[in-house]
Amino acid sequence: MTRTIPRIALGGFMLESNGHAPPAPKAEFEATYWLEGEKLLADLRAPAPRASACLSGFLAGMDQGEAWTPLPLLATGAGASGPVEQAVFDEVVARITSGLRAALPVDGVFLALHGAATATAEPDPDGVLLAAVRAVVGPDVPVIATLDLHANVSRKMVEEASVLISYRTNPHVDMIERGMDAAFAMRAMLGGMQPKAAFVKLPMITPAVAMNTDQGPYADIIAYGQSLIDHTILDVSVVANFSLGDTPKNGLSVIVTAKGDRARAEAVAHDVAAKLWSMRERFRITLTPLETAVAMAKQAGADPSRQALLFADVADNPGGGGRGNTSYILRAFHSAGVEGALFGIHNDPPLAAEAHECGIGARFTARFNRAEPHPMSEPFEAEAVVEALSDGEFVGRRGIYAGRRVSLGKTALLRLGGIRVIVVTHRRQFAEPAMAEHLGVDLRAVRSLVVKSRGHFRAGFDDIFPRDAIVEVDVPGLTSVVLERVPYRNIPRPIWPLDPDTTWAPADA
Ligand SMILES: [Zn+2]
Repeated sequence: MTRTIPRIALGGFMLESNGHAPPAPKAEFEATYWLEGEKLLADLRAPAPRASACLSGFLAGMDQGEAWTPLPLLATGAGASGPVEQAVFDEVVARITSGLRAALPVDGVFLALHGAATATAEPDPDGVLLAAVRAVVGPDVPVIATLDLHANVSRKMVEEASVLISYRTNPHVDMIERGMDAAFAMRAMLGGMQPKAAFVKLPMITPAVAMNTDQGPYADIIAYGQSLIDHTILDVSVVANFSLGDTPKNGLSVIVTAKGDRARAEAVAHDVAAKLWSMRERFRITLTPLETAVAMAKQAGADPSRQALLFADVADNPGGGGRGNTSYILRAFHSAGVEGALFGIHNDPPLAAEAHECGIGARFTARFNRAEPHPMSEPFEAEAVVEALSDGEFVGRRGIYAGRRVSLGKTALLRLGGIRVIVVTHRRQFAEPAMAEHLGVDLRAVRSLVVKSRGHFRAGFDDIFPRDAIVEVDVPGLTSVVLERVPYRNIPRPIWPLDPDTTWAPADA
């Protein structure tokens, strides 16, 4: 008997859309990665790829088995932004489906998705993309996708895919492993497994800073889900949702995939969802007021014997669609005369370009946010010295960027009195030490590190800043975790905690 070599198509589309951020143009995807055909495969086979680590994990998982033929389609991603411009999303679907048609026959499709995208017209792009792929390959070909832990899952996504597997770690340091899980699911389906998925969505959103997985309620529910995996269950995904997406599909979700027994999948999904619902009061949070943060930074700067502190500007997280340039903390630390602080990273293309024109050692008046229209990105001016310049190209070494090639574009390190600020051209989240180290900064000498990041910084800086050195600061921003302040328009109501009397029972699912 001759065995045919399985032909597996690969693609990806990764965007987390903040419902209140400006639309994401194609340039944002191209500045992160937009890779098609052999260029995608070459990137994934390179030592430090740009494309999603889920694709690397899937390749590695498939490579552990017998021979297979990868058929690379389009993979693109833009981190987090606003809704993707509709024409850009339409192009993504057209390129993936036309590539897939040209590759037929295929034995399976793997997609690295985020799951919390919206487009300027379409509210469920991830569902639309999965349906378009399904329409090309028909009902019997495995279509398997990985999802970010912050996916806003729709029933359409679950129905059009064969298997959906979400991350289990936050910060997301398990993307390679989940890609490998997808490969093992693909191999099992090629061997005849017919997975059955159950899906439960709860009327519940949570502050993003309450959803870390090293400890706390979310860690507990993920561990509980994993404890239910046995010979009948392939995957349990407890999906945090992206509360700032502001879509009709918001809400925490549980997706359970059984290896064939749908009733078993339903029973486990309801069990996990009921436990999660019963834990909801544990997801409330407390942030530190700005005045308190200023006093703490003054003390840290004045007394080198104290523990250095990390201040998280969780409300301006580019990883959640923030502009990465609000100046609330910078202005307050600067006017208070804080010493030994490093701000990373401030997204300001004109300021980065001007610093490059001025050159290292130059003194000039740094005008922050001169070209930024968003009202929360207020202008700020200060006398500055250019301390270092770079092209912003580096390979990450810790956490979510480990081993990945990343570009910040033109980058400058500016000194404003006792404060230094890293100014960049591409909007990114400060979650990686190399973002500062490639400019010659010694992070261990920094007394106050201010990061524009919600939580992924924890995996980048946990060797220097332990949990008790982290201060989550309460300032305004597009990624505020104070849900009561978010101008919601589209989320389903009632929803907990905005509607505290919201009820739910497993029979409602
Ligand atoms: Zn995420």
